[in-house]
Amino acid sequence: MSSLLDLIDPDRDVSRFTSYQQNLAIRLQLAINKQGLPEGFSKTGVHIRREKLSGMVYVSNKEEQMCMLNNDKLEMYYRCPKCKNEGFKNTIRHSSRCDFIVGVGLEG
Ligand SMILES: [Zn+2]
Repeated sequence: MSSLLDLIDPDRDVSRFTSYQQNLAIRLQLAINKQGLPEGFSKTGVHIRREKLSGMVYVSNKEEQMCMLNNDKLEMYYRCPKCKNEGFKNTIRHSSRCDFIVGVGLEG
């Protein structure tokens, strides 16, 4: 079992995570240990990251894929390369003119 500190991006200082974000990071780690990473999620360079602006905590990898907890299930999280909207496969809402098919591509 890898420890939380191993998973946290070495470039990011875990002490800068708020306690809320640390809790999210721990929930993510427990989910990884219990459920494993989502299908199709590369296991290379896996780490937990925090997005400074939104405060979002997520799992990323060397290929800049993202996954997060959707309720209690670890799922791939997508950012549409066209309209830049984000979400899980079943929850992402594209802007009205976007014709991109979710799940085909992913931008970090
Ligand atoms: Zn879109």
